[in-house]
Amino acid sequence: MIPSAFDYLAPTTLDEALSALAEAGDEGKIIAGGQSLLPVMRLRLAAPEMVIDLGRITELQGVHDDGEAIVIGAMTPHHVVASDPLVAEHAALIAKATETVADPQVRHRGTFGGAVVHADPAGDLHAPALALDAEFEIAGPGGRRTVPAAEFYVDLFTTAVGEDEILTSVRVPKTTGWGADYQKFTRVKQQWSIVGVAAAVRVEGDSIAEARIGLTNMGSTPIRASEVEQALSGCALDAAAIAAATASAGEGTNPPTDTNGDAAYRRHLAGVLTARAVSTAGGVASSGAGAA
Ligand SMILES: Cc1cc2nc3c(=O)[nH]c(=O)nc-3n(C[C@H](O)[C@H](O)[C@H](O)COP(=O)(O)OP(=O)(O)OC[C@H]3O[C@@H](n4cnc5c(N)ncnc54)[C@H](O)[C@@H]3O)c2cc1C
Repeated sequence: MIPSAFDYLAPTTLDEALSALAEAGDEGKIIAGGQSLLPVMRLRLAAPEMVIDLGRITELQGVHDDGEAIVIGAMTPHHVVASDPLVAEHAALIAKATETVADPQVRHRGTFGGAVVHADPAGDLHAPALALDAEFEIAGPGGRRTVPAAEFYVDLFTTAVGEDEILTSVRVPKTTGWGADYQKFTRVKQQWSIVGVAAAVRVEGDSIAEARIGLTNMGSTPIRASEVEQALSGCALDAAAIAAATASAGEGTNPPTDTNGDAAYRRHLAGVLTARAVSTAGGVASSGAGAA
């Protein structure tokens, strides 16, 4: 289908974009890469009268190092994030998850900011952002504010970004030297995650000193597997020990049931994939990690 008619603006500064959004009110909509918004407009599930394109605002582009963290501009496309050397060195979990997003075409148009604001529960960037305690920088009519990942994801397709606000960047505290892995379970290549598990581990000697685990598509928002993180603290770098510490990853979650699998299967997958992700992140062969 063809979208309803709309006006289009491509401001070059954030202030202009915020003013345009305020002026358009309920009829205004931000467009980033358009990979999620345009299909919704074509189905006429959204019919904004004014579309405000962030593509010309240079301050929203690219990745930089601010000392304690890596800062990813909201308009940075997935393919840039996935291949950026700073992200690879200091936030490897983000790189690993971004590599799994869709196909090369979508990764060239779709943006980090667009994906996190869209907040599809099956999206692959939320669990890593949550696991790494990312902070979301948001600009609005009242100025700028920072929202921690634990408060950013509010519900299905709903984040802390208000209708009159723009996400400007995501600040990811450095996990330099940590091992990282993202396990994405799909039935066919380039599918949305049926379940995904993001794991980052800091190894000391022959055990895990610290672990961060985030779950994708195990509820309406990404989930931090805090109890598993605690169970992994001090865990030997051994496949069987890791499998025992991670088996309960899906417990207490409320994942969807659909044609790809029911909730019980997803809970089973969460345990299996967490063992695999932690084993891979820790450099351990995951032979004892169970079957999907
Ligand atoms: C075929 C296909 C397969 C896909 N597979 C996957 C997958 O496997 N894993 C995955 O994670 N994702 C997947 N995606 C989604 C992909 O990551 C998109 O890039 C993402 O959902 C939207 O990013 P975008 O930049 O295109 O945003 P847009 O579509 O432009 O915008 C999405 C929404 O966010 C709002 N928005 C965008 N940027 C901002 C901002 N800076 N501030 C405030 N609001 C903003 C828009 O108003 C809109 O509501 C897939 C998409 C397609 C089309």
